[in-house]
Amino acid sequence: MKFTTQEDFDAKIKSVLITEEEIKNAIGRAGEYINNLYDGRPILIVSILKGAFVFMADVLRAVTVPCEIDFMVAKSYYSGTVSSGMVQITMDLTHDVGDYHVVILEDIVDTGRTLHDVVGLLKERHPLSLHVITLLDKPERRVVDYTPDLSLFVIPDRFVIGYGLDYGEYFRNLPYIAECEG
Ligand code: 5GP
Repeated sequence: MKFTTQEDFDAKIKSVLITEEEIKNAIGRAGEYINNLYDGRPILIVSILKGAFVFMADVLRAVTVPCEIDFMVAKSYYSGTVSSGMVQITMDLTHDVGDYHVVILEDIVDTGRTLHDVVGLLKERHPLSLHVITLLDKPERRVVDYTPDLSLFVIPDRFVIGYGLDYGEYFRNLPYIAECEG
């Protein structure tokens, strides 16, 4: 899918669900959570690409404890808005998590499969501790039993875009979270 006109692109943005200001406040809460939890102990912040990269960039700057970052790619949606029901790790971490307190930052928990699998995988590598913060959480859609340590926004069963989240690789650049049309 390609958007060839600005009008087609704009028409896909149905309504703003979470504003820039609300996101900014939530980032502050995430930073506080991490700073209180680790209280000066060094941590490794892991983000699941691509959706969580904007979220990570903001949370990182709200963190005051010594931290390193790493990325992994895990995919459960291959295109469009329907879950394939499969999780694939296509790019792994470069750090040995056995040496770290790990914080996973995720953009959205939907069926729960991605985090369930990623957390299971990382726990097998025996991190010093492991916590998960998600920007968005759609509990109505859960098919596996998984609850993140911190969900900044609980949202209804809608397909959302913006602030790193895409529709067909577009809309990651929106500074807010919007509901996607159609
Ligand atoms: P889960 O494994 O929990 O079903 O799905 C997690 C992944 O599905 C997220 O990291 C995200 O890439 C994708 N996803 C789930 N719901 C949405 C949504 O509403 N919008 C977008 N853009 N991606 C979603």
